[in-house]
Amino acid sequence: MRTVVPRTLFLALSCLVLCGSLSAQTTDRSLTLLEKLTTAHGPSGFEGPVRAILQAEWSDVLSDLRVDGMGNLLGDLPGRESGPRILLMAHMDEVGFMVRFVDESGFVYFNPVGGYYNQSLLTQRMSIMTPRGLVVGYTGFKSGHAFQGNERNELVTLRDTFIDIGARSQQEAMERFGIRPGLPITYHTQFQDLNGTGRYLAKAWDDRAGLAAITEVIEQLQDRTHPNTVVVAATVQEEISGRRGASVVYESLKPDIVLNLEIGIASDFPLKTSRKEAQGKLGGGPSIFVFDGSMIPNQKLLEWIVEVANDAGIPYQFESVSGYGEDAAVLQRSGRGIPAINLGITTRYAHGQSGVIDIEDYTNMVKLLKELVSRLTQERVDSIRAFD
Ligand SMILES: [Zn+2]
Repeated sequence: MRTVVPRTLFLALSCLVLCGSLSAQTTDRSLTLLEKLTTAHGPSGFEGPVRAILQAEWSDVLSDLRVDGMGNLLGDLPGRESGPRILLMAHMDEVGFMVRFVDESGFVYFNPVGGYYNQSLLTQRMSIMTPRGLVVGYTGFKSGHAFQGNERNELVTLRDTFIDIGARSQQEAMERFGIRPGLPITYHTQFQDLNGTGRYLAKAWDDRAGLAAITEVIEQLQDRTHPNTVVVAATVQEEISGRRGASVVYESLKPDIVLNLEIGIASDFPLKTSRKEAQGKLGGGPSIFVFDGSMIPNQKLLEWIVEVANDAGIPYQFESVSGYGEDAAVLQRSGRGIPAINLGITTRYAHGQSGVIDIEDYTNMVKLLKELVSRLTQERVDSIRAFD
């Protein structure tokens, strides 16, 4: 169930107490956008619904909005023609699943598309995307009354997990519901205000939060002068090995600098994650990745971003996560090599059914990006690219 309190009223009330300097108007636009993007279904290779939202959002803001042969959505926000080309990039796909087969009784088995963990699979509502619309089902499990021995503590693997869509037979599942092998599946969830705390629960923050931030940045920059051209890419197929969509972006956009928008990995909650693996903290500001498993950022770009954040009074945090890869790594190695960095909106429980973000981190990310784009001159890019 969505919150029943009218959003504008709720924000007006809650922001008095919780949101500090955030204006209700800004937050309202942000929340509408975040809700729209996180509730859209779009696992790797099936990003259409997300792309459609962005096409509608970006068509009045960007020039030459186009879709390349992989399905990436690309566009330009012209500024100073002689200035450098700054790429803002985030991916459209989310971690999901794909129908493997339907058994004789009509239960749907599936494969993973992207990183998942077994314990997030059982007793979940799932949406199967069919040509006739979404088919909702449930990953059923044995009734508690029927457990034997230690069974309640045992792990059930994806191999044995199935979705119950209510069908009585394979024929009914396939003919009545239109299920067939190869159809994409996502978690069936809703966008949820976490009780007026300024924190929100939703699926697919990774990377819809990044796409929403880019959307707000280009919207807010469109009537202002900036000393560069902003080129934008919403990529496909990041969550599967090879970061396939990003691998063709250079060819179309030829950027001079790459700012990749992603999630940061929170470790500020009980259970398992420690600062030894990830350092993100909700409310700590945008994450500047100093290292991840796919990329070491350009050091002069990193230092400059820190300088700008300090100068603009925007909080930030550093992250170093070895079990993490992202699209900027592909661009960094494109052409003759491009200075690139990854910036994250910190998220709890990433790659599970849902995650939690703090809206202040999101708002500060939008602010930071705006500052960066507004200040990124040709001279600055030359100095970053000079390496010494
Ligand atoms: Zn991501």
